[in-house]
Amino acid sequence: MRLIAPNLWQLSGFPPNIINTYLIADGNEVVLIDAGTRYMTNRILRTLKRFFAEDEHKTKRLTAHALTHVHPDHQGASKAVCDAYGVPLWCGERDAEPMERGLANSPDAQGVLGLLMRVWSGPAYTVARRLQEGDMVAGFRVLDSPGHSAGHISFWRETDKCLILGDVLNGMNLMTGLPGLNEPPVPFTTDVAQNRRSIRKLAALKPDIICFGHGAPLIQKPHKLEDFMRRLPM
Ligand SMILES: [Zn+2]
Repeated sequence: MRLIAPNLWQLSGFPPNIINTYLIADGNEVVLIDAGTRYMTNRILRTLKRFFAEDEHKTKRLTAHALTHVHPDHQGASKAVCDAYGVPLWCGERDAEPMERGLANSPDAQGVLGLLMRVWSGPAYTVARRLQEGDMVAGFRVLDSPGHSAGHISFWRETDKCLILGDVLNGMNLMTGLPGLNEPPVPFTTDVAQNRRSIRKLAALKPDIICFGHGAPLIQKPHKLEDFMRRLPM
């Protein structure tokens, strides 16, 4: 567990920073954001167990699990986490249907994406709340950021300009593994033009802390995003 900012932790992954999950908290509300592939289930459950065991006041408990988007590398352990902690699953309105049907049964499950959907995805699970722009989740405001998936959402905390943006942007090159800002790969993105509009919407917030689905968090490096935006095609 790595503390990124007050009440925001990144769960340790293996290898580190490749597929990220986060914990956010506000008062009694503690929410797991994203849940890796299904092969990460044991690691995520172990990490959460240790985190709550080490809470010195023993007051923290998981209250919900939310997804930036319903892709197989983000919802793999979702059902296991919700079952283990008895917490509800939340996601963006337009990603709820694939979550409830199961990604392995998706009509889009063709080609490479289809293979990953079948191999990595976790089971279907009921979405208890369909998050919408403006909803508050553990101190973060929900922002619609569709394009990578139809119902992709991001989480924004104005007080310290902290943004959890899922796969609207990748913090690494998924092909080479090298760090740096990249658009998510086209084969895995539902609507590239719409995702670029979401990138512009989020960049306009001028975030100081950016937490990605893939890649190490970018902390206090505004020039990296500015450089990227200059290169982004219209
Ligand atoms: Zn992803």
